[in-house]
Amino acid sequence: MIGFSRTITQVIVVLSIALSSPAQAPTSRSPQGKPADDDGTLRAFAAIHPIDVHVHVFKTDPVFQKMLERLNLKLLDILVMDDTNPHRKQLRPQIDDALALVRSGAGHIALCTTFDPYKFDSASFSADAVKQIDHDFAQGAVAVKVWKNIGMEIKDRSGQYIMADDPTFEPIYRAIASHGKTLMTHQGEPDVAWGPPDASDPSWSYYQENPQWYVANRPGFPSKQRILEARDHVLAENPQLRMVGVHLGSMERNFDNIARHLDKYPNFAIDTAGRMEYLMLMPPEKMRAFLIKYQDRVLYGTDLDLLADANLSDVLKDWQSTYARDWKFLATDETLNVEGKQVHGLNLPQPVLQKIFRSNAVRWIPGL
Ligand SMILES: [Zn+2]
Repeated sequence: MIGFSRTITQVIVVLSIALSSPAQAPTSRSPQGKPADDDGTLRAFAAIHPIDVHVHVFKTDPVFQKMLERLNLKLLDILVMDDTNPHRKQLRPQIDDALALVRSGAGHIALCTTFDPYKFDSASFSADAVKQIDHDFAQGAVAVKVWKNIGMEIKDRSGQYIMADDPTFEPIYRAIASHGKTLMTHQGEPDVAWGPPDASDPSWSYYQENPQWYVANRPGFPSKQRILEARDHVLAENPQLRMVGVHLGSMERNFDNIARHLDKYPNFAIDTAGRMEYLMLMPPEKMRAFLIKYQDRVLYGTDLDLLADANLSDVLKDWQSTYARDWKFLATDETLNVEGKQVHGLNLPQPVLQKIFRSNAVRWIPGL
């Protein structure tokens, strides 16, 4: 799992969404508050020609492709190097498979490539990475991903965790900017990874399944602040580089902090991947005001995946119910029942929805 891919099990196990009182609801709520069926919801979602900027797809499938066509949906398929996952250990096969997927997707799938950070200590690391991403751009890749293993896993020869602002990465960032492409950064983890166990946190179940990323009480482990400061340093040093901080820029519990970052770094935007539940935890008027104020800086993403051995009918259900839920939350004034809790839809204005679900993706990730 890359962020919080929602397997069916996880959907069942997950999250507690805070109760927001009716007094906190947007004023334009319909009197009935009656949930529409998913079909109608998905038709409204499809009408905006949505782009999901954060998925992990490992196989082509005609039924899956049909869903993309039915929903007028475009995906950004993101590659990650992960030495703990057999499907993600090797870069070349991942790129080749993804390019085949893009070709078979008939315009519905684009590629966010990556480079191999485990080769960090090689003398030709930067040059090799630049050459490889240049090649991937020539093949149509529109973005490059940096993952949390930088900052939280990989160490240099001296035993120090490497950080995103290590000068070794700088030629890579410059190459991305010079091609007019976009850097997608997943740096750090949710706060709960550094904190005491908290079953009420939407991300908690992830650490039960992936304890290697739960870093509380690990002596010498970098603080989240240090990791995000390194990310911010990249933003400051590379004003020509567009960066999308995925998973709400890993600032999922602090929208004031996200706002400060968006104000300070004009080259920074965020995606919502795997963190929609945190938006749902916020008081609705506060969340609505944030999304309207920063309507040009938020990209819709899910972190949904399609694994090679997945049961396709489960996958389709999972994907469509996620899109229906997210559309209801952002676009309607319905009251959603999420894990037994009442969540009020934000009923965002149509032009804002158009940006979040589509045009911000096109503007921040040219080529999509
Ligand atoms: Zn992801």
